[in-house]
Amino acid sequence: MVRPSHRSDRVAPPRRPRPASQSLTLPVRSLTLRLVVTPSPEMGRELMRIGNLEGRLVLLAGGGAVDVAAASEGRFGPDPQSVYACWQEFVGWAAVANVDLDGRPYDIADLGAPVPNPRQIFAIGLNYREHASEASLAVPDEPVVFTKYVSCLTGPVGEIELVPGEVDWEAELVIVLGRGGHEVPLGQARDLVAGYTIGQDVSERVRQRSGPAPQFGLAKSHPGFGPIGPAVVTLDELADPDDLAIGSVLAGEKVQDGRTSRMIFPVDELVSRLSDVVTLFPGDLIFSGTPAGVGMGRTPTRFIQAGEELVTFIEGLGEMRHRFVAPND
Ligand code: ZN
Repeated sequence: MVRPSHRSDRVAPPRRPRPASQSLTLPVRSLTLRLVVTPSPEMGRELMRIGNLEGRLVLLAGGGAVDVAAASEGRFGPDPQSVYACWQEFVGWAAVANVDLDGRPYDIADLGAPVPNPRQIFAIGLNYREHASEASLAVPDEPVVFTKYVSCLTGPVGEIELVPGEVDWEAELVIVLGRGGHEVPLGQARDLVAGYTIGQDVSERVRQRSGPAPQFGLAKSHPGFGPIGPAVVTLDELADPDDLAIGSVLAGEKVQDGRTSRMIFPVDELVSRLSDVVTLFPGDLIFSGTPAGVGMGRTPTRFIQAGEELVTFIEGLGEMRHRFVAPND
């Protein structure tokens, strides 16, 4: 079979000028969560934002939610996780479904993790050059891979309990797979991607660094340390799915402000390279690494304090809002 060609000498493409109208405004005092629904005359395009409302699979459009199980008359079940096992059929249905685009109004606090129970969660370390250098670590020749355990997943809005230590932020593009595979050639990797969502790879740095080998998996998997959402957005919704503004705003200060085009290993390469080793499944998640600006990279270092709000944004995907609360001990 044709093997993917892996290039370790990848150079980020030049940044294109962006129109001012695409700049993100972040009303940090407001408690509203914007879903950034792009007005579109094409029903299929606007429909493909998939969420989890009170544990049920919904399409988010026009400010409302459409219950998929009801709209499809039972063709698709209500479990938000199960749709990825029949992703192609679902996309085909959604493109032509005759459903009420406005949906019913909902409370953003009722949105859960859009992919609540993946079989596997991969996370990539040091996937942005500037982040590797702020961490005083070498740029890797191949992706640095660890896991966040599935029990750390939570929804796109709400409270996250701090733990003792140094709790840090990492805004990340999360890749959601709609197909599985093993040894997937680079040129076919994009076919596995159902869409993107926003993630925070919340990390407790003391445990992460402790011991003779790094404890990434545990230190990044406390309850609530894996918020994702607000929706899974299909790539055809995005002007350029390989170049999206991404960042974090902590207590009103924009602390991370990057672009996904600066990834060392871009989306397709991550999918292909992971599949060289591991069998991927529909519904798996890949946290694709964070740009520069995390708390441990600052001088002096800065970590999340009780009462602070963290906003995580990615262009075209919307934003998440979490308030951190003191450890409950
Ligand atoms: Zn990370």
